[in-house]
Amino acid sequence: MHAICCETGRKLGEQFAEAARLYAEAVVVLTSHHANVSCDKYIQLRAAVEEARKRSESLGIAYEEHVESHRRGGETFRTGPAKATHKGPPGSDNDPHVN
Ligand SMILES: [Zn+2]
Repeated sequence: MHAICCETGRKLGEQFAEAARLYAEAVVVLTSHHANVSCDKYIQLRAAVEEARKRSESLGIAYEEHVESHRRGGETFRTGPAKATHKGPPGSDNDPHVN
């Protein structure tokens, strides 16, 4: 099983990891200043955490969908070129009147 299958998948994975890291950092900032943060600042930090969470979540979904598209695409790829190999007119090499 190769989850990281192509350049797009690799980039999506990096973006997802980065977004998740920023989310984790935002949570650390929010919770570590818990005791001496002003109400306004708390609301600001809380909004930043929420933004980072949404971003990491949507990138996680995009990454999953990409991996899933490869699983479906892999099946199409197996049946796709098989049809394209038979390009000659049907029955042409069985015709007794040729030659
Ligand atoms: Zn891929």
